[in-house]
Amino acid sequence: MKLQSFVELKSPLLIGSKLTTGNAMHSTERIPGSTLRGAVAQAYLDCYGSDCCVSDPLFREIFLDGGVRFGDHRLADVWPRSVRVCKGRKKTKHAPIDLLLRAGAGKELLLERCPEPGVECLERLVHPKGGWDNQAEDGYVEMELKRVRQAHTSMDPMLQRARSETLFTKTSLSGSQSLRGFVEIVSGNPEIQTRLEGLGELWIGKGRSRGMGSSVWSFSGGLDQDESKEVEAMAGRMAGIQHCAPVELQEMVLFSITLQSPAIILDEWLQYQGHFGAAELDGQLTGYKPLAQFADMTAVDGWNESAGLPKSREWAIDIGSCFLFGRQISNTDERAAETQRVAQTLARVERDGIGERREEGFGEVRICQQIHMDLAY
Ligand SMILES: [Zn+2]
Repeated sequence: MKLQSFVELKSPLLIGSKLTTGNAMHSTERIPGSTLRGAVAQAYLDCYGSDCCVSDPLFREIFLDGGVRFGDHRLADVWPRSVRVCKGRKKTKHAPIDLLLRAGAGKELLLERCPEPGVECLERLVHPKGGWDNQAEDGYVEMELKRVRQAHTSMDPMLQRARSETLFTKTSLSGSQSLRGFVEIVSGNPEIQTRLEGLGELWIGKGRSRGMGSSVWSFSGGLDQDESKEVEAMAGRMAGIQHCAPVELQEMVLFSITLQSPAIILDEWLQYQGHFGAAELDGQLTGYKPLAQFADMTAVDGWNESAGLPKSREWAIDIGSCFLFGRQISNTDERAAETQRVAQTLARVERDGIGERREEGFGEVRICQQIHMDLAY
């Protein structure tokens, strides 16, 4: 049972304490599923008693045995790394472009200037920040969370003035914003949903003692779809990608995978990978070759509250990374049959995610996402 889930911020939120430059601290743009899970577990103990981690079988199922998948929460879907926008877009309003299919066809990618049709634009192309929304009037636009910057210093008790060289700044997400994601109750046990809905206030991230990170968590209607409808929609999107692909890819069955959260992928020697083959996702996808990728890696750190120790660092393929796979099939009928066959597998991969630690939100993917077709350049 997959539910749409909302975290509404009541006060500023600060997650992730990587010091960037000097004494500045910046919050991440999302609530990782692992962070949400920790906050929910704390609220559960506050609500149902601190001994329930021993006595309550539901606690074990939800938090320890992976019975609930906690998705990443964010303002909107993230921009694929293959998207580029005009640097002067605030004034020019030039449309973003997506290079994934172009890269798959082996065409030139280093575009010197914004290629807006009909005008000679001298601006450079850059990668957009934050997430996107597709609006009726303006098309694809950037969505960024509102942030608040606070600065503080420390006092010298002897001199009764600010100590020199001690100015700290932190940039948090401001309150009164809502982030969305999903929660999946694997067993479908309705009692788990009732328990989670009864939790009330969550405290997420840093600074609880200073009132930071207060949030309200709520669910709405299920995201579960009839399986045959899911497969049909997937086959439709695969046909869409094929339709938008350059002529070099016309005789291929194509699919793209775009990461919405970091994905931890291990090879057979348990080493972290910065990419993956189609067959590693599912044996049914053997024969599909990687055609293009726009990918980066990121370090994943965590904190084990009960042990009071940092979790060991892992490496993941970063959010927004995207991959294009294809298989050459010249006969049109055979290609259509293959699309139908693979759509079933891909619908499953999209539903379940990829890689390790999926119950903490890692490995959430979109397959054949519409944005790659709408913005294909
Ligand atoms: Zn431009």
